[in-house]
Amino acid sequence: MTRLAEKIDISELAAPGVRELTPYQPGKPIEELEREYGLDDVIKLASNENPLGPSPDVLRSLSDNLGELSRYPDGNGFVLKQALCRRFDLDPGQITLGNGSNDVLELIGRAFVTPDNEVIFSQHAFAVYPLVTRALGARAVVTPARAWGHDLDAMREAITGRTRLIFIANPNNPTGTWLTRAALEDFLEQVPPHVLVVLDEAYYEYAADPATGIADYPDGLQWLAAFPNLIVTRTFSKAYGLAGLRVGYAVSHPGVADYLNRVRQPFNVNHLALAAASTALTDSNHLQRSVAMNATGLQQYYQAFEQLGLDYIPSAGNFVTVRVGPAAEINDQLLRRGIIVRPVANYELPEHLRISVGSEKENRRCIEALDAILQTL
Ligand SMILES: *Cc1c(COP(=O)(O)O)cnc(C)c1O
Repeated sequence: MTRLAEKIDISELAAPGVRELTPYQPGKPIEELEREYGLDDVIKLASNENPLGPSPDVLRSLSDNLGELSRYPDGNGFVLKQALCRRFDLDPGQITLGNGSNDVLELIGRAFVTPDNEVIFSQHAFAVYPLVTRALGARAVVTPARAWGHDLDAMREAITGRTRLIFIANPNNPTGTWLTRAALEDFLEQVPPHVLVVLDEAYYEYAADPATGIADYPDGLQWLAAFPNLIVTRTFSKAYGLAGLRVGYAVSHPGVADYLNRVRQPFNVNHLALAAASTALTDSNHLQRSVAMNATGLQQYYQAFEQLGLDYIPSAGNFVTVRVGPAAEINDQLLRRGIIVRPVANYELPEHLRISVGSEKENRRCIEALDAILQTL
């Protein structure tokens, strides 16, 4: 063992793109912080999870399905695809199911991107886009942000003959910025046919809600008939409160879905996740409650930040990114008080923190802690 270790430089063995990767940094788990600091009332506002949890109908469906665990799941996800088709008026051939939508983002890369290709995404955009791109050995083309969000003109100008994929998050994580229907439609019309556009709508349900006050927010599914190079991805992790089960999906031209399904592992979505997601789609009241609670919580943060004199980026998601100045120091102080938020220095936002909208009480605790910490600085 030791003698072998002397001879092998493992980094020499890693694929060149993988060698350059830094692992995705997830939000700190509650239990980990409780162990580290000896706390017992930790709250987590770091991973954009639904503070209400899943629908009670989903919990019933999960217990009803426990007897099936010795069986492989339905590799075609028939029931969930039917539920999605009813809900969004789709054809099952358009749908690719994933173990979370991150799985789908990776399938898209594996099916369509080679090391000769370029992949375009924006500065401050979701961390999984560079991970997918670099792991494949493709060239990442990062366009500078405009007003914290995607600069579609810059993205269009970055297209070359080698471009195969453009990732767009609408709204974007971690900045919460969104693109209007008019801007995106204009962009899609100008993208050449050799380029696939991934429209990541992980926060669609929040952004589309009128109570959030987001004007002219588009539903990407409406464009699929006109643009066969468009892939829309969505998830059950956020507004549906199922982050722990891992289920998301892509909707695309059936020809694109066919290739995604060729690289997909046959049982990538587990039985409980399939059952839970199908049921979640039927409880529109729970979704409505979740989205309404988020709209109220965002206002709670906006008002507090205005009182504290902090600049924040208005958000179409279930989180808000705020400029606090010495973010690493403030994050550390928040952790000591049992509050987990997300530092975003790895997104080139070293002075900001991203805070997920929790329950009214969790939000209040976070705001009061932030206020107290800021006074000591
Ligand atoms: C949270 C998030 C996802 C969803 O990830 P899952 O794998 O479905 O849990 C996708 N895209 C963005 C921009 C996100 O913030």
